[in-house]
Order: sequence, then C-alpha cells, then structure tokens
Amino acid sequence: MRKLSRPNIDPNYALAQCIDGVSNALTKSHYIANQPYLQQGFNDFESATSAVNWCDLPRVPNGNKSRVIVGNLTKEQLTKLYSEHMVGSTGAARQIYDDILVAANDKCPFCAGIGHAATLDHYLPKANFPLYSVFPTNLVPCCRDCNTKKLAAFPTSADAQTIHPYFDSEHFFVEKWTCATLIRTEPISINFDICPPPSWATADQKRVASHFKNYDLARRFSVEAATELSILINQRRTIFRGLSAVDFRSTLSEQGCIPSIPINGWRRTLYTALAETSWFSEINF
Ligand SMILES: [Zn+2]
Repeated sequence: MRKLSRPNIDPNYALAQCIDGVSNALTKSHYIANQPYLQQGFNDFESATSAVNWCDLPRVPNGNKSRVIVGNLTKEQLTKLYSEHMVGSTGAARQIYDDILVAANDKCPFCAGIGHAATLDHYLPKANFPLYSVFPTNLVPCCRDCNTKKLAAFPTSADAQTIHPYFDSEHFFVEKWTCATLIRTEPISINFDICPPPSWATADQKRVASHFKNYDLARRFSVEAATELSILINQRRTIFRGLSAVDFRSTLSEQGCIPSIPINGWRRTLYTALAETSWFSEINF
C-alpha cells in the first residue's frame, strides 16, 4: 500500500547489538556460540526475498516455547532476543528499533496511513518464524489495528502473501488496484473492493486480495469514507454550492489524483469513485 525503503541496517550488527545487551554471561555466550546459525538464517531470508517466497522458509507451529529451532537455541530464546534485548533494551538495539519505526514517518504502510505507525510488525510472525525475530528487514512499522488484524500464521502459499513494504515490486504501489462503488441509499453507502489490472499475473492479483482481506481494509476504508462523505456533502451545500455538476466532478477528480496520497488508500479511492459516479454530482443536497 505504501512503499518503504529497506532499513539500511546490517543484520549482523543488529544481532550483535541484541546479544551485547544480554546481561547474564552464560546466556550471552550461548547466543554467541549459536550466532552462525542465525547468520545462515539471514542468508535464507535474503534468498526467499529474491524469489518472493517467504512462505517457503522453515516454520514451526504456535506454542512450545522450549522447542529447539537451530543449534541449541529454543524458540523462547530467539523471541527474547526481540522482546527483551531489542524492544526492552536501553542501548543500541533499541535505537535500531526506533530507527526502523521512525522511517515510516508515522504512517502505517499496510493500511496506507489510516493508522499511525506505533509498533514494529514481524512480517514473518516470530511465533512461527522465531529465527527472524531481530532481522531488520523482517521488522516493518505498523499501526496497532493492522498489527491486530493480521493473521497470526503466515500463509503457506506464495500468492497469499501480503504486500511487503520493503521488497515488493513497484506496480503494487503505483498502479491502482482498489476501487469503490457508491450505492444510492439514504445515507449514501460506499463499498470498497479490489480491482487489480487484468494484465497483472494471477499470483499478484491474489496477493492484493489477500492483503485487502487480511487487514480488513473494506470495512476500515468504509469507516473513514463515511466520515469524509458527510463532510463533503456539507461542503456541497455550502462552499461548493455554486459549482455546476461538471465543475464539482472536476473538483472530486482532482482530489482523486493527489500524488502525495497513496493511490490505493481510502481517500483517493473514494474520490475517484465519487468523480466517476455522475449521479453524485447531480444531487441537490
Ligand atoms: Zn495500518
């Protein structure tokens, strides 16, 4: 929905800083001894990124925190690297967390800025992919709603993977794949849906469908749009009262083309639909 630059943070540096913050000497040496396994995991993540098939990376079921994942590191020890030694750190590891979060400029990339980026999301959930708990490119700024809505288990097929703000191709971010339909009820209702270009690969069309569904965007877009529509109708009665239907449609169309707003966000999708719906501009509110 919104493209973000990949964090310019060496994953081995991030890992080293997390380990450095471990106060217990025995625990720290345990992590250090297993560092090569984690570094291999990073290489595997990079390979999966090139192939856009993160879903094929080795996963484990939810629960069983004492399960050994690599070397002699358990799931709990791996996830603690994140929860205790990155999020809970007061040193360089926490600075890495904060740097990744602030790069979103406060706007959540998954819902195209409905919510504020308030936390970091594990693109591959740490409950199922604990090996990537502190890899910077698996950490994406996220709003609390998206963080909650996201399915706990990552999909097992490539075409069901949600859009990755760092890595996915440009066309997901610059081509229109959301749409809306106005229904002439009282009050007017708006349905949001996906409309990926037919020229796209079938897998890409399925991926935006998964993204839209997993983040509950049809409902969340409608909530935002309902508020905006009531404001707009009031403006049509007041400051836009003198505009002809044609001129009002032009105004709506301009709002649907503002380049600084995500093309597939709720606002541009709404205004594009309003401009394309002739009866809306002709109503004498
Ligand atoms: Zn969000």
